[in-house]
Amino acid sequence: DVLGIGFDSLTMQEAVDRALALLDEPGAHRVVTPNPEIVEVCRENLAARHAVKSAGLVLPDGIGVIKGAAMLGTPLKERVPGVEFAARLLERMAGEGKSLYLLGAKPGVAELAAERLKERYPGLRIAGTHDGYFQDDGPIVEDIRQSGADAVFVCLGAPKQELWMARNGPATGARLLCGLGGSLDVFAGTVKRAPKFWRDHGLEWFY
Ligand code: UDP
Repeated sequence: DVLGIGFDSLTMQEAVDRALALLDEPGAHRVVTPNPEIVEVCRENLAARHAVKSAGLVLPDGIGVIKGAAMLGTPLKERVPGVEFAARLLERMAGEGKSLYLLGAKPGVAELAAERLKERYPGLRIAGTHDGYFQDDGPIVEDIRQSGADAVFVCLGAPKQELWMARNGPATGARLLCGLGGSLDVFAGTVKRAPKFWRDHGLEWFY
């Protein structure tokens, strides 16, 4: 428990295994990847806190969460950055022929991400895409439902994506919804992650 948010203590591998298992369990399961900024938002915003705490998987994306848990005497196994978790999950989903819907980012980015992901993970089925700048949830939820997607990556920034998933998850018909911030920009290649040195030293946030 770091400032009121209970995290799952899992290795990256265990987190991916758990998410894959959820794809085969009935219900709409949510994955959230809070960093320290999101934990801060949750202290003030009750709806965001509820949306984060009620998720099926709460993964520590951010060295601040790892340090905090260690200082509290309840260390977490490892940092599980959302974008890396997503990449590993897609590799496995491609192997099992599962389908994915990409929601979020500026117009055109989700489509570009879809193209890149299909090249990178042969066998991955992209059920649909939509940008993250819309007014009504209804038509998007309907589009996801019609697409029959097994999983949805919801990349609207925090806490918008966590609230969106909690509100609409079951109506989409998808088994798994993952809130992944700026990941579509990374998959599309429009934003680069920090170089390995910075990531390995817990300094991605600083970079
Ligand atoms: N975004 C969106 N709709 C919005 C606000 C943001 O689709 O109404 C997208 C934005 O284009 C970006 C992502 O959400 O792709 C948020 O990225 P950011 O890096 O700010 O999120 P973080 O990973 O820090 O949560």
